[in-house]
Amino acid sequence: MYGGGEFNSLYYNNFACNPNIKEITEAVKIIQNRGKYDVIIAVGGGSVIDFAKAWRLFSKSDLKLIAIPTTFGTGSESTQFAVLYKDGKKMSLDEKSILPEYAVIDSNFALNSPQYLKACTAMDAFCQAIESFWAVNSTTESMDFAIKSISLCRDNIIEFVNTNNETAAENMALASNLAGKAINISRTTASHALSYSITTKYGIPHGHAVALSIKNLYQANSQVSDFDLLDIRGIDYVKQKFITLNNLLINENYFDTLFDKIHLETNISKLGISDINYIANNVNIDRLSNNPRKLDKNLLYSLFNS
Ligand SMILES: [Zn+2]
Repeated sequence: MYGGGEFNSLYYNNFACNPNIKEITEAVKIIQNRGKYDVIIAVGGGSVIDFAKAWRLFSKSDLKLIAIPTTFGTGSESTQFAVLYKDGKKMSLDEKSILPEYAVIDSNFALNSPQYLKACTAMDAFCQAIESFWAVNSTTESMDFAIKSISLCRDNIIEFVNTNNETAAENMALASNLAGKAINISRTTASHALSYSITTKYGIPHGHAVALSIKNLYQANSQVSDFDLLDIRGIDYVKQKFITLNNLLINENYFDTLFDKIHLETNISKLGISDINYIANNVNIDRLSNNPRKLDKNLLYSLFNS
């Protein structure tokens, strides 16, 4: 903590990765000097940006928020969501007032990151864009963001993960931001719904956990019928979306090559994930109901390869 020069400033980092409610209420007590500051600048990964969003909400502050993500994938700088933990359980904030007013996207932060981190963050962005595109709550605007993000991911993800190419990193940073904008409108679907308990129970990073089911979910969703359709816009409308995705060369076969090339293991037994029952029982119901196809327990089990 320090105050400096002509500006009053306060540096605060008294919280851990995946911030919890206690840390936020503590910060609300400490950072009370309103009127002294004009702006909050959150520089860091998803946890830092989520902490700043939650602090602003809990302290009823009207300070503007500038988000500067140093890792990307979640697109947290362009969403009104924040993840917090209470007694080890994940809680989601979804409040319009916590959306950052400004974001500074600098892809240099992602260059030279470890390959596995890059693969996880890039897959989070990619899955968010794909899920947003087929989401029940998608709109023309969200689908536009999603398609742009999907095209950028398709063209840049392999190079981004395997090299330090600056253009690929810039394009993936943009793809992540666009995917954030897309899910801010549409929310995510089944792969995200299943991922949360995989992360909390097995410690698999978020982007990796989401990627585990995307290939089979693609296949399952593309076989949606009138019988199990959840999107009221109708079967022809939803089928057309899969034609659009196929035209972008994104189909279930696409993922086999992709996972090989970005070195991401998607066999759950090899990752030590054994209790699919637990994962299916702890699925996020809200996100699941945003999936275009109704998925019963058997279908949920079939989304994973072991
Ligand atoms: Zn995500």
